Amino acid sequence: MDLYSGHINKLIDELAHLPGIGAKSAQRLAFHLINMPKEKVNRLAKTIMDAKENVRYCSECYTLTDKETCPICANEKRDHRTIMVVENSRDLAAYEKTGKYEGIYHVLHGAISPMLGIGPGDIKLKELIKRLEGDVDEVIIATNSSLEGETTAMYIGKLIKPTGIRVTRIASGVPVGGDLEYIDEVTLLRALEGRTEL
Ligand code: ZN
Repeated sequence: MDLYSGHINKLIDELAHLPGIGAKSAQRLAFHLINMPKEKVNRLAKTIMDAKENVRYCSECYTLTDKETCPICANEKRDHRTIMVVENSRDLAAYEKTGKYEGIYHVLHGAISPMLGIGPGDIKLKELIKRLEGDVDEVIIATNSSLEGETTAMYIGKLIKPTGIRVTRIASGVPVGGDLEYIDEVTLLRALEGRTEL
């Protein structure tokens, strides 16, 4: 028996598909939304649609941005010869928060996972290789220390080595299996400073 109306059930169901939202949270959010004033709900819906329509990949580093080129790539003061490779825009944000990294980034939007059927062609890897045709001194691989992150790091390392460009991997001060976005800034900086040659 359905406890709620079809519309509520549909809303709960949609919310429950979002990452990190379980059945209970979805229910709580759904009731919260229903009880919100109509104009607030409209604003939220419009904000979601606007973001969806206007956010795209930076033409250089592939992070999510509103412009053709993201503010980091557009910043002349950044060191454009050092590229840090991260799995997603959230990891980029984590390193940006330290305020100590002066290079630029490359966002893969995923990691190689044979188990999930995600191969090198499914992430922004050839885009990275293309960037290396420019002036690059170092590629710092800052993928997560999960199995997928390590597999990806090894794969990229092997790919770049023959080019003669310096390839480094952040130190494993980052806990195994840990998502970069949840790690504090001091640990992130230590991992960056302790990076090793691949
Ligand atoms: Zn960019």
